Amino acid sequence: MTALSLTNVCKSFGPVEVLKDINLDVEDGEFVVFVGPSGCGKSTLLRVIAGLEDATSGEINIAGEQVNTTPPAKRGIAMVFQSYALYPHLTVRGNMALALKQAKVAKDEIEARVQEASRMLDLGAYLDRRPSELSGGQRQRVAIGRAIVRQPKLFLFDEPLSNLDAALRMNTRIEIANLHRQLSASMIYVTHDQTEAMTLADKIVVLRDGRVEQIGSPMELYNDPANQFVAGFLGAPS
Ligand code: ADP
Ligand code: MG
Repeated sequence: MTALSLTNVCKSFGPVEVLKDINLDVEDGEFVVFVGPSGCGKSTLLRVIAGLEDATSGEINIAGEQVNTTPPAKRGIAMVFQSYALYPHLTVRGNMALALKQAKVAKDEIEARVQEASRMLDLGAYLDRRPSELSGGQRQRVAIGRAIVRQPKLFLFDEPLSNLDAALRMNTRIEIANLHRQLSASMIYVTHDQTEAMTLADKIVVLRDGRVEQIGSPMELYNDPANQFVAGFLGAPS
């Protein structure tokens, strides 16, 4: 089954074309990494997939269903932002539970999902704290937990580790790889970190100026980059 299928997706802001004819399939359970220079359209593409922006043209299919006009909350997707985007006035538990409360999930079920996610993310001791009482790494884990409790089929991560220091980045990267194994969900992950891309990805999508430059496994891109641009990102020195 194909988790996500993009066909000729374009996005303009006024006269500015930011995404140009994007075609991409993400299979069930696949870990797909988007890389490319700042401003090439990575975040916009995630936002279009999530429904936070409308595509100007083209088709977005999720689990076989056309979702172009489906609101974000109904797409079966959860997004994790670089900025965490936690609610400062809510506790860790409150942050994780909020979307489920809004979706009218039963109280017991909410608590069970929050417990399960906090166990996975080692946040059990912090459930009653507010974001300001947590470290950066803990805050990012809460943001990931908030995505997990929604049990999405597809996770979108927008440079989730770029605000963390190097040691924490490595730990959290390993944690995300473990989560991917445990949850058997599809994940799309934006990064500009070559190590993250090479170690996490089943498939890497190299974006340049709003277009797909090359798609392949880490080894394909490393050993056989289509051009200097791809080589510069991921390939062997040439
Ligand atoms: P990336 O995440 O790869 O750094 P973005 O998707 O954030 O790139 O941005 C791609 C381009 O789209 C940039 O030139 C940016 O200025 C432009 N852009 C993004 N969002 C908007 C918006 N809401 N209105 C106008 N231009 C935007
Ligand atoms: Mg971005």
